[in-house]
Amino acid sequence: MNYSETIIIGAGAAGLFCAAQLGKLGRQVTVLDNGKKIGRKILMSGGGFCNFTNLDITPAHYLSQNPHFVKSALARYTNRDFISLVEKYDIAYHEKELGQLFCDESAENIVDMLQAECHRYGVQICLRSEVSKLHRIEGAEIGAFRLQAGDAHWQCKNLVIATGGLSMPRLGATPFGYQVAEQFGIPIVPPRAGLVPFTYRETDKFLSVLAGISLPIKVTAQCGQSFHNQLLFTHRGISGPAPLQISNYWQPNESVIIDLLPTHHLEEEIKQAKQNSPKQMLKSILTHLLPKKLVELWLEQGMFKDEALANLSKAQLKNALDLVHHWRFTPNGTEGYRTAEVTMGGVNTNYISSKTMESQRVKGLYFIGEVLDVTGWLGGYNFQWAWSSAYACATGIHTADL
Ligand SMILES: Cc1cc2nc3c(=O)[nH]c(=O)nc-3n(C[C@H](O)[C@H](O)[C@H](O)COP(=O)(O)OP(=O)(O)OC[C@H]3O[C@@H](n4cnc5c(N)ncnc54)[C@H](O)[C@@H]3O)c2cc1C
Repeated sequence: MNYSETIIIGAGAAGLFCAAQLGKLGRQVTVLDNGKKIGRKILMSGGGFCNFTNLDITPAHYLSQNPHFVKSALARYTNRDFISLVEKYDIAYHEKELGQLFCDESAENIVDMLQAECHRYGVQICLRSEVSKLHRIEGAEIGAFRLQAGDAHWQCKNLVIATGGLSMPRLGATPFGYQVAEQFGIPIVPPRAGLVPFTYRETDKFLSVLAGISLPIKVTAQCGQSFHNQLLFTHRGISGPAPLQISNYWQPNESVIIDLLPTHHLEEEIKQAKQNSPKQMLKSILTHLLPKKLVELWLEQGMFKDEALANLSKAQLKNALDLVHHWRFTPNGTEGYRTAEVTMGGVNTNYISSKTMESQRVKGLYFIGEVLDVTGWLGGYNFQWAWSSAYACATGIHTADL
């Protein structure tokens, strides 16, 4: 039987950072992970450059059944704190857009930094260690757990679940964290894919010829939330930052409204053009403002009729304005966990201390990172949640043991 004061399951962003913090506080800690290497999602993140935080982090950038839950952790370990650590390791970074900070060189810089911190503070990391069974030792005054990882048996006083969500199963995702919560009577907010591309219904499949085209749009969900950013047409549906962001606010069978020219007032522009050159055709205005292939596809599909501006009827004008400013897109669904960046839902935060991430039901049992019902926007928010919740947990464990 191996013993460690604290065991963390999951060597992802949250698990590694929590381990390093605990090590720094002088605590003994072991990380168990089912993969062959640490930080696999970090390596894939931000197109290989890891969008590790954002300059503008507020609780409003997170979705959870309890929107107040994130406040304490985000305030105690901020984006500035993580940026200072990145700077201490001389990792070059830049702001891409909307406050999003990326490594200049590679996401490997962040994994190397976390590994160096763990090494520096004596953290033990065991890879290829899939945790399958776990139980609490009956009668233990404070949390005391036994678990099995591969052939090895472990016992610990504090157990931290940092197993992430279900997205990208090929990177080692498992439902183990949710199973642990259920085993101890902690409810789960039903998980679903988040930050995920939408797929076409049968009737929209003609749009697949537009694959590869991208344009700036505004997209609005039924709940009123909207995002201005790029939309990318794919073979299967729509993707890009704006659709990914709105997918977190979309519910099955709902539509989203897409404004394909959010910085234009098409009606005004048509009015002006009609005065200056009444013979100008509607198509020529539209192709001037939008991808030509899209406009031609609309024509081909009979979605608008080309007409000289002087002859445009009210109904034809309204139809053109609706097409451009008010495209009602009803997804068939999403691409699911295969391509989702995050998992929405997870361990119900009403049963977790927002100060320490400890379960209110089971002493010594902690949940951090994406396994919790906390989902950030696209743009570095999910990693900041991993750092902040990990920090809260490490300080919580340390203080409880003083
Ligand atoms: C392609 C992609 C790009 C992304 N880009 C960004 C970005 O640029 N910025 C951003 O903020 N967020 C990004 N995200 C989201 C971000 O990666 C996650 O929110 C974050 O990694 C969650 O950290 P975590 O430690 O909670 O979980 P994870 O990083 O998922 O780590 C969980 C670990 O637990 C291990 N594990 C699971 N079950 C077991 C078990 N039973 N036994 C042992 N080990 C187990 C897993 O193998 C994994 O290593 C991206 C996600 C993806 C998929």
